[in-house]
Amino acid sequence: MRLAVLGTGYVGLVAGAGFADFGNEVTCVDVDADKIARLRRGELPIYEPGLDRLVATNSADGRLSFSTDIAEAVRGADVVIIAVGTPSAADGSADLSYVLSAAESIGRALTGWAVIVTKSTVPVGTADRIRQTIGRVTDVPFAVASNPEFLKEGDALNDFMKPDRIVIGSDDGRARETLRSLYAPFVRTNDRMLFMDARSAELTKYASNAMLATRISFMNDVANLCDRLGADVEAVRRGMGMDPRIGAKFLFPGIGYGGSCFPKDVKAALATAQAAGTQLEILEAVHRVNERQKGVLVDKMIAHFGARLRGRTVALWGLAFKPGTDDTREAPSLVMIDRLLAEGAIVRGHDPVANGVIRARFGERVALFDNAYDAARGADALALCTEWHEFRRPNFQRLKEVLASPVIFDGRNIWDPTELRGQGFVYFGIGRP
Ligand code: NAD
Repeated sequence: MRLAVLGTGYVGLVAGAGFADFGNEVTCVDVDADKIARLRRGELPIYEPGLDRLVATNSADGRLSFSTDIAEAVRGADVVIIAVGTPSAADGSADLSYVLSAAESIGRALTGWAVIVTKSTVPVGTADRIRQTIGRVTDVPFAVASNPEFLKEGDALNDFMKPDRIVIGSDDGRARETLRSLYAPFVRTNDRMLFMDARSAELTKYASNAMLATRISFMNDVANLCDRLGADVEAVRRGMGMDPRIGAKFLFPGIGYGGSCFPKDVKAALATAQAAGTQLEILEAVHRVNERQKGVLVDKMIAHFGARLRGRTVALWGLAFKPGTDDTREAPSLVMIDRLLAEGAIVRGHDPVANGVIRARFGERVALFDNAYDAARGADALALCTEWHEFRRPNFQRLKEVLASPVIFDGRNIWDPTELRGQGFVYFGIGRP
């Protein structure tokens, strides 16, 4: 099949390369000419494990190409995928300007029947707005389908190539059949394709992210209660997770969720409910708890150092919003850095891939290091923000030697408090004595 994918971010690039790998002819389009120029030179604008190899092999085989010319990409395509951003507008709702502008460009470029597929996360009713926008500028027949994407950054290829489920929202028979055959190679072992109407498909994505965010905020609430009561949230988490009705995944307390999806999707779901004249009361609390949780490590530092952070040096390990990505959008580390700087602390940091993004944002105000131990050198405390693999078993002896004082704030509960205290560290975790 011939595909055009609009937007070459985390979703568009992974989807474009993934579809090409199954033999389709894919043109990835972006309005960002610099991004396209880099991709044509074989450089990836984002970090996602394994994506460089997939892009390189499919480009070399001629199945994957990059362009800024929407009209050329859409001409003759059977499937046109919208994978542009849907950031938060000032009122928290999803800003659909990129999606609708992409839809209008598609409408002007259509030369024959195609199904226009929305992979961007969009509020209920967007499929109708896309249909109207395209219909205003073309007489060529077309169909619209909602196909929310569930991949997670850091493991995006695996999620895309072996999806848990493929949700397709469309009432158009030809669109359904086209997408069934596009996705058939991804679900050969069993049929995990779910067909429904577009509104339900759009809501499925928000409800899924809202549920995942709820589990995180719930556990952060429980962790804070553990702190008050002297219980260990890690024991509580394991005890809960063994119940198959609850399940062990996504029960990890920490310093709050971040990234380009959960925060904006939770806010957009709240705005959708409000516009529909109702409320998602649980989700309102989920958002509040998450905002509070981003400050939990700095609160613990202030409690430990007795409100004397001015002039103290704090080292941060892991700055991306989660391991395996260079994405720092809404990362809790950003809130921590802002607050530490406002308290007068000196901030040093290290991230395996996100140093460049943090440098662009904070400049000289944060000293960034390629080596984790160099970042910790001379610091009064080390805070672990993101649990990259390389931080799981560090050389604690070496760490103790480089730190000015052996104080650790473990924002992801990855280290053993007993072991660290045995080695002479002062250890603080989240919800554990
Ligand atoms: P991104 O910001 O990384 O990329 C979006 C790209 O779209 C940018 O390169 C931008 O230049 C381009 N663009 C904007 N307008 C365009 C137009 N008219 N034509 C062509 N290109 C255009 O975004 P992302 O993280 O890939 O997310 C895209 C969508 O997918 C969002 O709605 C997001 O919520 C959703 N989503 C993201 C993830 C994720 O993990 N990142 C997962 C599932 C769903």
